[in-house]
Amino acid sequence: MNLYPINAGNLKLDGGAMFGVVPKSLWERTNPADANNMIELSMRCLLIEDGNRLILIDNGMGDKQSSKFFGYYHLWGNFSLDSSLKKHGFHRDDITDVFLTHLHFDHCGGSIQWNKEKTGYEPAFKNAHYWSNKDHWLWATKPNKREKASFLKENIIPIEESGQLKFTSLPNNNLFKNSELGFDIFFANGHTDKQMLPLIQYKDKTIAFMADLLPTIGHIPLPYVMGYDTRPLLTLDEKAEFLNMAAEKNFYLFLEHDAHNEIITVQKTEKGVRLQNIFKTEDIFK
Ligand SMILES: [Zn+2]
Repeated sequence: MNLYPINAGNLKLDGGAMFGVVPKSLWERTNPADANNMIELSMRCLLIEDGNRLILIDNGMGDKQSSKFFGYYHLWGNFSLDSSLKKHGFHRDDITDVFLTHLHFDHCGGSIQWNKEKTGYEPAFKNAHYWSNKDHWLWATKPNKREKASFLKENIIPIEESGQLKFTSLPNNNLFKNSELGFDIFFANGHTDKQMLPLIQYKDKTIAFMADLLPTIGHIPLPYVMGYDTRPLLTLDEKAEFLNMAAEKNFYLFLEHDAHNEIITVQKTEKGVRLQNIFKTEDIFK
């Protein structure tokens, strides 16, 4: 198995929204804000090459919406999903599976693109199955008022219409479920309903794709929860459970949204679980 980081672009979001009830004087130590109070974030996806399969975890925002829409997100840096795939010798048509942690636009927007005539939409990965789960799909396609602006119809409905949509099975009591994709999944319900975090066995290491359970290193202390989360108290519990397990089992945490820290480990301290080490992806994926 080979793993590759795929950078689908960088963005900026309001620092206050990213840290919920935590005051700026605390969060700006790890995540400095610009003059407009925006902090730097990434959309770092993960490519798994496993035998004949090429599995892409999440795919960034895509490019379908208006320049006004993208203006809100202050895209920066010269990364794109295609150039990042190319750097490792791949093309989007090579992808066999697209695994979507959840259907917020900054995770699944790259799934669907305009067709050539710009008259309608088509899958951006024409040879891939797209993986979600039944509960999250229902949640996203009949969105609550709070999350409605994050679940964009044009990112979601065409996946189903293409016939390329697949659902993973759901866990019973255990949060883990050996999936059809060859890795385990941690289901988290605090950020949104049935977010899925892949846990990948890579050589002697477990790589955990943290998605929106742990967006940046600034979010490690338990109360540092995004304002976007629908069930923040549940996120606290889920983070406690996951970070304790990560410290005990020495997981390598792959951070999708941290623009400056790619992979970290954590350790137990008197204050709770805290940062242990920061790694570059190339030091771990070799
Ligand atoms: Zn999200």
